[in-house]
Amino acid sequence: MKLKLNALYAEEQHFQWEVSQEWIKELLQSDVDEGSVEAELYAASGPMDMQVWVHRNDEDVFFRATLTGEIKCMCVRCLEFFGFPVSLELQGIFIMPEHDSYETPDEPFTYFYDGGEIDFSQPVRENIFLEIPQNPSCEMVLDSCVGEPLKAIEEQTSEADEETTIDPRWAALQELKSSLKK
Ligand SMILES: [Zn+2]
Repeated sequence: MKLKLNALYAEEQHFQWEVSQEWIKELLQSDVDEGSVEAELYAASGPMDMQVWVHRNDEDVFFRATLTGEIKCMCVRCLEFFGFPVSLELQGIFIMPEHDSYETPDEPFTYFYDGGEIDFSQPVRENIFLEIPQNPSCEMVLDSCVGEPLKAIEEQTSEADEETTIDPRWAALQELKSSLKK
């Protein structure tokens, strides 16, 4: 997913890559500690399609891009994998790196190019985790769980839901009500 700077012009150009399953697999593992729960939650289900539109304005390269495909997520309720459709949209600018610094630029959607090459791995890496669910569950794409939901987890989450859904004003009223009964 790299482009040579000197092959880019003011006029918009379109590029397309097939992103390999292996690359996606590495990406999904790159941000998590080995053996952690997160490392087990996501898996690459196949290659993905990357489309890029770029145009260059002197030293700056403006881009928009889409990454589409599917990522396997492990359902937190039944622990089965299901395919989660991904349609990641990206845009930004590649700029020349500052001479004495190789850190990432402060501006959002801004990336440095390196050695006369722009590399779309960085924007993909930074944004893919915003696209996939943090607590994946089959119900996000299917009517119900693929497997048997685990009872313990189910009860835990429904309890947690109840706690958070009680309006504080109602809670106060409920307290008042129970104090009147005494
Ligand atoms: Zn499930």
